[in-house]
Amino acid sequence: MIYCVEDESAIRDLMVYTMKVSGFEAQGFADGADFWSAMKTQRPELIILDVMLPGEDGLTILKRLRASPVTGDIPVIMATARGSEYDKVIALDGGADDYLAKPFGMMEMVSRIKAVLRRTAPKQAKVISYGGITLDGSRHTVDVNGTPISLTLKEYEILRLFMENPGRVFTREVLLSDVWGIDYTGETRTVDVHIGTLRTKLAEAGDRIETVRGVGYKLEVKK
Ligand code: CA
Repeated sequence: MIYCVEDESAIRDLMVYTMKVSGFEAQGFADGADFWSAMKTQRPELIILDVMLPGEDGLTILKRLRASPVTGDIPVIMATARGSEYDKVIALDGGADDYLAKPFGMMEMVSRIKAVLRRTAPKQAKVISYGGITLDGSRHTVDVNGTPISLTLKEYEILRLFMENPGRVFTREVLLSDVWGIDYTGETRTVDVHIGTLRTKLAEAGDRIETVRGVGYKLEVKK
């Protein structure tokens, strides 16, 4: 899935259409607000971000993406204003993987997308399995005893932390800062709510996530 944030609807529609006929799944957003709400439900493989947007601008969105451990490694291509050396430099300094100077051709866009995806592809598939739970880090999928389950982005990130560190006890504070990002200002109860839904979705493997009274949570590893 590729997310495309562009406020000009004619350009956005053309971009999304071109990506789809090129074999990608794609979704367009007119501004940062719509984009962030979609980010809560699905993590895209790549994001194309226009610099000039109403409300939150593209460079600010880029900065927020890079600041979070959850979204920090998603490849981003910035669409910069024509001839704006400044935009280009700021975009690359801000951690963009590439940029497209407006106006750009649709075929150029597709070849840049492919090049960035090739360059940023995980070096090896990372599949972790414990107690019936299998997490595929390259495909972002989880199954329990062979049955695929559908997790939200946060639930997935919590499970990934547990699976990568079996037996390690995570406090709510550590989970909050690792999964939600250090600038998250909500309550630690948020963690409990997500652990609850994660356990339910993991079904028979749900009790693998153990509560460590007064401390936090850990993935129980049975021999
Ligand atoms: Ca724009």
